[in-house]
Amino acid sequence: MGSITGMNFIGGKWSGDADGVFEGRNPSNTGELIGVFPRSRSQQANLAVAAAREAFPAWRAQSRIRRAEYLDAFAQLVKNDKEELARIISRECGKCISEARADIVEGIHSAQYWFGRSRTPSGEVLASEIPEKDCYVYRKPKGVVTAITPWNFPFAIPLWLICPSLVEGNTVTLKPAEETPLTAQRLVEYFEKAGLPAGVLNLVQGYGEEAAWPLVTHPNVDVVLFTGSAQVGAMIKEVCAKDYRKFCVCEMGGKNAMLIFDDADFDLAVNAAVMSAFRTTGQRCVSAERLIVQQGIFDRFVSSFVEKARNLKIGDPLDEDTFMGPLVSSSACDKFEHYKKLAVEEGAHVLLDDGRLTEGSYSRGYFVRPFVYTIKHNPTAKVLREEVFGPHVAIMPFRDLEEAVSIYNASEYAFALSVCSRDYRTIRAIRNLCDFGVGYVNLPTIGAEVHLPFGGLKKSGTGMPSASGLIDAVTHRISWTVNHDTQIKLAQGLSAEVPK
Ligand code: NAD
Repeated sequence: MGSITGMNFIGGKWSGDADGVFEGRNPSNTGELIGVFPRSRSQQANLAVAAAREAFPAWRAQSRIRRAEYLDAFAQLVKNDKEELARIISRECGKCISEARADIVEGIHSAQYWFGRSRTPSGEVLASEIPEKDCYVYRKPKGVVTAITPWNFPFAIPLWLICPSLVEGNTVTLKPAEETPLTAQRLVEYFEKAGLPAGVLNLVQGYGEEAAWPLVTHPNVDVVLFTGSAQVGAMIKEVCAKDYRKFCVCEMGGKNAMLIFDDADFDLAVNAAVMSAFRTTGQRCVSAERLIVQQGIFDRFVSSFVEKARNLKIGDPLDEDTFMGPLVSSSACDKFEHYKKLAVEEGAHVLLDDGRLTEGSYSRGYFVRPFVYTIKHNPTAKVLREEVFGPHVAIMPFRDLEEAVSIYNASEYAFALSVCSRDYRTIRAIRNLCDFGVGYVNLPTIGAEVHLPFGGLKKSGTGMPSASGLIDAVTHRISWTVNHDTQIKLAQGLSAEVPK
């Protein structure tokens, strides 16, 4: 596959106009140029917002069902090209091919889910105190949406944000991650082929500060949907809070954990931990970087987990047998190294640290081996509190339920959790006492489905989940009360008398 010249899509037209370009390269083989894309800045952002604003009145005037039909057409088109798209994702971000396929399936599911949901109620009919009145909760689109997305689910996450926004009558500008511009371009091309009217979905490529920030701060943007790191999310929350008309939803990182009790199905727990820690090379917002394991099985668990981690197949993500592809970038490698050093400084007993793979074909990519250690819990240790976003795993022992909950909750993040136990009382207590947004029982911390809410608490999110939960972010819920009497009658016994 050769490299391409990428473009922005603004007001229904493709254009490469920008003050420069940036390159997309394959993290498994940095010698491979995937494409050259416009390095957009405020000029392109302004044009995209203007196009989205212009398209909004006609788009919101269409029926919800008609709008959703574009998503159905999109899904039908994508289904035919799944394999080609999966290969693009693998090449752009280093995800293993099976995970890249799942990314596309998840995106198709989003389109299908919102297509189906368009025929279900979007509001409510409620009783009034006054029998002659009917009360409704009715949803209205918020207007012009900016969607800013990360590289690690380059197909599914943009669709999580785009699908509910469009079905509910908003228009959108997507600023995808600079690591995965080609996947985003393909995604938008399918919407164009599906016949989406001009300006309803716009694409602006480029870097965060240059291309996304003007889309966040633009006075004509009503909603900012952001998925990415907590650092960027914090800036977006701050600037949106100062603008009375702007609403933002930020889905951010995690310091996720598995809590594994003595009575757990041992093999299931070890396998779930390996998937939680190393799938997507630990670069999922729900990856588990903390394994909190009860004393009775601690030593056995540690040796079994380390053994499996040591034997994982690392390599070309296009190879069906590969379990771990590369990290996404050279800065991700630097961050991984930084946290390895920090772990040692903060008291880690290192069990697995085979370093970066630099021989032969590995030398052209960002391949690293898992880093695994045991450590006594220390609530001030940065390495136990900050997201590494790589195959970096701390294993900590606990005595009892109370200690497990306290270790788990000692994080500023609160995203994904898994509990492994056979005791329903333990499982229920973990559900009730731990802070998280996405929880699993006897499963890995990965495996989201689009019809469930997906989002974290504390530093992980704004408490407004993505996926199915996003409808509340992209619509205003208004109350609408209709009188069927010829007289005015008011609630709460309020007099409706007006002096003559
Ligand atoms: P990132 O924050 O570096 O980038 C995400 C997006 O924000 C990109 O499109 C980037 O260009 C843009 N951006 C960067 N700086 C910006 C700025 N100053 N203003 C506006 N936009 C800016 O994150 P990433 O490295 O792409 O992704 C990894 C992070 O995303 C991890 O923290 C991970 O946990 C998180 N993540 C969260 C979820 C979730 O659903 N909560 C899902 C996937 C990834």
